[in-house]
Amino acid sequence: MIPSRIIETKRDGGVLAQADLESFLDGFLQGAIPDYQMAAFLMATYFRGLDTSETDVLVRAMLGSGSVLDLSWLGGPRVDKHSTGGVGDKVSLALAPLAAELGLYVPMMSGRGLAHTTGTLDKLEAFPGFRTELTLNEFQDILGRVGCAMMGQSSEIAPLDRHLYALRDVTATVPVLPLIAASIMSKKLAENLTGLVLDVKVGSAAFIPEEERALSLASAMVGIGEARGLPTVALLTAMDRPLGRAVGNALETAEAVACLRSEGPPDLRDLVLVEASEMLRAGFPEFGEAEARARAEAALASGRALERLVRLVEAQGGDPSIIGDPRRFATAPERSVVEAREAGTVLAVDPLPLGQAVVTLGGGRRRLGESIHLGVGFELALAPGDRLEKGDPLGTVHALDAAGVAAGESALRSAVRIGEGVTELRPLVSHRVSAAGVGRY
Ligand code: URA
Repeated sequence: MIPSRIIETKRDGGVLAQADLESFLDGFLQGAIPDYQMAAFLMATYFRGLDTSETDVLVRAMLGSGSVLDLSWLGGPRVDKHSTGGVGDKVSLALAPLAAELGLYVPMMSGRGLAHTTGTLDKLEAFPGFRTELTLNEFQDILGRVGCAMMGQSSEIAPLDRHLYALRDVTATVPVLPLIAASIMSKKLAENLTGLVLDVKVGSAAFIPEEERALSLASAMVGIGEARGLPTVALLTAMDRPLGRAVGNALETAEAVACLRSEGPPDLRDLVLVEASEMLRAGFPEFGEAEARARAEAALASGRALERLVRLVEAQGGDPSIIGDPRRFATAPERSVVEAREAGTVLAVDPLPLGQAVVTLGGGRRRLGESIHLGVGFELALAPGDRLEKGDPLGTVHALDAAGVAAGESALRSAVRIGEGVTELRPLVSHRVSAAGVGRY
């Protein structure tokens, strides 16, 4: 295998022989193929794509580069949920304990904030002391005792993906459908699941904003899972407005806790219940849609999912008492309420400027490993479709200083579009993609 020939074949739109692609990927993992050749290859895939057989080789190489858990000893269904990432998406924090309460084991490996999206690991660290770096033994022990465990991708899981992802991040080659599909699915396959629910965001602040391409991504991931015996369902969910009212790490954690108290905003509650029902059906296929939804609603209403979160936080070294007193979550020193300058209907709340502003305010990373402030962000006082009078609050900016307050106010004003007319929003969940094909939700 001559590396430059591999790059040339892909550059010219050819399909690579399985053995050639395998040895190219292996060479990269072993350090024999330098970053500059892999970067050129990744850019060629940006323009030319990978077909199903090449994607399959990539998934196998990523998965085979690390450990695959054996969780069969748990004796029950093991179901995870993974989101492609959005603004205000704090679903995992409420969903994992709820799904555990429904009788599933949830081995959840998550990421940190990426670009304009906050990450589950950062939000978990809003519980003082919470450890997201666990050994695989600790992870399995907590999973067995609590029913759910949440950690980052350890160095043992799909190291080829980690190296490739770092290179993609700095070479503008993240948004390549087969690369995203292989990256996500290799990590999920390493979790040794019996079922997987994918939340594929679509809309202006999604990594893949267009519906048609988001559906292709969903179908590719479902295909990868099913081909390896992992029943996989993908839901297309709206990212043309923020999910819920809180945007920013600790604010989102507090909102997820409120959701488990049956107090959170209705769209968050609804998505948590939809995804919990899907996870339950993946674990117990005998349940129909209505039965699964009723069980998820009952478990949420009982308060037992909240108790499960307390146990999870305790098991992972965090201080669970904060759950009973959410005012103790990290706060930013400056708070400022932004008021409407005109009356009208809220026609849109664009999530992208809000997500980008959280990074500007110090709540997201510009460089790998940078420390962040968990308390900054936005609490929105409105949702699309609301009627506003002049002087009504748009929301509260939480910032570190006066410059942050000004930047936050400007982002909030540019995000909220007020006028007269009809608000056009995507349905919260628009499509369901499974082995049976694509259906409207
Ligand atoms: N998340 C991942 O894990 N991988 C990608 O490529 C994109 C999002």
